Amino acid sequence: MKKILFVLVAGLVVHQLSAQVNKLPAVPRKAGCASMVSGIMLQGIDTTKSRGMALNELMWDNGKTIAVKFLPGGSQAVRSKVMQFAKEWELYANLKFNFLPDNAPAANVRIKLGNRVHNSYIGIGVNEITSQFEQTMNLDTTDFVDYQYYIKELEARLARRDTVIKVWEPERFIRNVLGRSNLVWNLKAMRGTTLHEFGHTLGLLHEQSFPGAISWKRTDSVYNYYLDNNPNWTRETVDFNVFEVGDYFYTNGTNYDAKSIMHYSVAAWQTTNGYSLPSNYELSAGDKMLIAAMYPKSQKVSALMLPRVDVKSITKLEVIKNYNKKKGISIFPTLDLASNPKMAEVYLVARLIFEDSSKTYYVNTTNQQFHWGGFLAAYQKKMLLPATKVSYNKLKKDTEIFLPDTQIPEWLRKYKVKFEFFVAMVNPRTKEMEKIGYYMSPSFMSIAR
Ligand SMILES: [Zn+2]
Repeated sequence: MKKILFVLVAGLVVHQLSAQVNKLPAVPRKAGCASMVSGIMLQGIDTTKSRGMALNELMWDNGKTIAVKFLPGGSQAVRSKVMQFAKEWELYANLKFNFLPDNAPAANVRIKLGNRVHNSYIGIGVNEITSQFEQTMNLDTTDFVDYQYYIKELEARLARRDTVIKVWEPERFIRNVLGRSNLVWNLKAMRGTTLHEFGHTLGLLHEQSFPGAISWKRTDSVYNYYLDNNPNWTRETVDFNVFEVGDYFYTNGTNYDAKSIMHYSVAAWQTTNGYSLPSNYELSAGDKMLIAAMYPKSQKVSALMLPRVDVKSITKLEVIKNYNKKKGISIFPTLDLASNPKMAEVYLVARLIFEDSSKTYYVNTTNQQFHWGGFLAAYQKKMLLPATKVSYNKLKKDTEIFLPDTQIPEWLRKYKVKFEFFVAMVNPRTKEMEKIGYYMSPSFMSIAR
């Protein structure tokens, strides 16, 4: 099983609809963040504290050309602007966005224009969305319309008395505007949102998660503000998207950057100390510095890159009871690993499972050597050299995980056992173990002597 760690994070900024026009009540605006978040999706990962300003775990290889295409929908006018704005990141990051035609068979990033949300998967998490018909980014084009222009137009008609408004219905007004052809666009909003969502695609997270940055009021009114404006959200979504505080691990040593394109706007009534922040519409100096450090044009490998190991395949787990000569159980996993340009510390782990009355259990142990997470297990540590592919037990038996007989408690002998095998990697930033591949041996066996 492949490592899957990706996060879908909501977009920012819906542009301000609330025109303070004299005669017309304000058109209701959506919240600072218009989009839904599907939450953190984690699989095969032991830890979940993966949240902060940049997810270096999901960085692209430096120098990568990222293939991008649009899914059906959206006008050419909007598409060409989105492409132009996205490419601003290329000025600072050693990455390229290669926009492909709609009929291209495959692209890393797929943009859906028109859904009522803004969001994007994080970094190389996009590659886990394997269906080429599924978007990795949503941009809500109705947020990019210049409603101020149309309000002014309406005001002019009212002044000329060639129209009459009996009941002001903002929803109907918006529907009417959206029904027109050749819409007038709010390029500032379109640029800000496009830069923000592509920032996620490059591995960036929300700046308001910076430790200590915002002291939110966690009151119903703040929850309701986001819930009212984002129909797909739950209180948990607000917790995750708005209130979540990242670990210092994920700040990459940067300072809090209120001007970051990755920061939501904040209203004074939402914070305990009256702190507020307007929407940001362009890349800040901090954004440019961080992305240049993540993807340096001057070095081959970024100092901020973390080791990454792909488990290409785990095809077999051979378990041999060897009580005569070796006095123990030998486990031979057959697998292929591939590392990125950083040295990686990985563990090949075989953890024992026993069956009792059709239920399965791990074996608790206080043994300091033969345990994984406090359960009876054997493992081998491997240091993977940068950018290498390595196979274990493929052509010959070259890697054995050995559980000595002396480690097996006598009470366990009457049960049938099997082993789960997994590959774990140390995240040097968090010092935590991440499970990156998993395999279960197919059948139980007796360990009676
Ligand atoms: Zn976002």
